[in-house]
Amino acid sequence: MKKAHLNYSEYLVKDAKILAAKQMTPAEKYFHIALANGESLDHEPGQFVMVSIPGVGEAPISVSSSPTKRTSFELVVRNVGKLTGALHKLGAGDRIGIRGPFGKGFPVRILEGNDLVFVAGGLGIVPLRSLINFVNDNRRDFGKVYILLGCKTPKDMLFGDEV
Ligand SMILES: Cc1cc2nc3c(=O)[nH]c(=O)nc-3n(C[C@H](O)[C@H](O)[C@H](O)COP(=O)(O)OP(=O)(O)OC[C@H]3O[C@@H](n4cnc5c(N)ncnc54)[C@H](O)[C@@H]3O)c2cc1C
Repeated sequence: MKKAHLNYSEYLVKDAKILAAKQMTPAEKYFHIALANGESLDHEPGQFVMVSIPGVGEAPISVSSSPTKRTSFELVVRNVGKLTGALHKLGAGDRIGIRGPFGKGFPVRILEGNDLVFVAGGLGIVPLRSLINFVNDNRRDFGKVYILLGCKTPKDMLFGDEV
């Protein structure tokens, strides 16, 4: 009988290890993560992953690092509910599940050769940072770069030091 060719990778939960974690603001925590099998996440700027904790749940979270960083990736999580609350209790050495990457990502090729203006408010900087760092790592392919970053109060600003 002919075997059906099915791509199971979208449903496969990959084991991942938290390498480092840091509270960034009262509500948001940064996580530096690596897949346990040593593979690259292989995402495009702007894509997201499904993050899970067994027995708690799963939620979509944007990848905040550039794909030029190959052996690990970064997430920023706002504590709003069940999964994100449980994630905030985790730290370096803890394990989580990762599915993906998912989503279309930003049209990087169309942007090449152009001046770029990035506009983000609050948590919006998280997926945009993936593209900003990609541009920074391929600086000669892009023109001038402007970043407009908004936040409710100075203590809520994410990545203000990097900008
Ligand atoms: C493509 C994408 C990318 C994302 N990227 C990020 C990211 O980078 N970082 C990030 O922090 N978030 C991100 N999010 C948002 C994140 O996925 C959601 O905040 C997610 O729902 C959190 O899951 P949770 O289990 O912690 O929250 P849940 O427990 O599902 O709660 C979610 C919200 O619903 C409310 N709620 C829950 N139960 C009830 C109820 N019974 N009645 C009324 N309200 C209720 C909660 O108060 C909360 O505001 C992204 C979402 C998408 C779609």
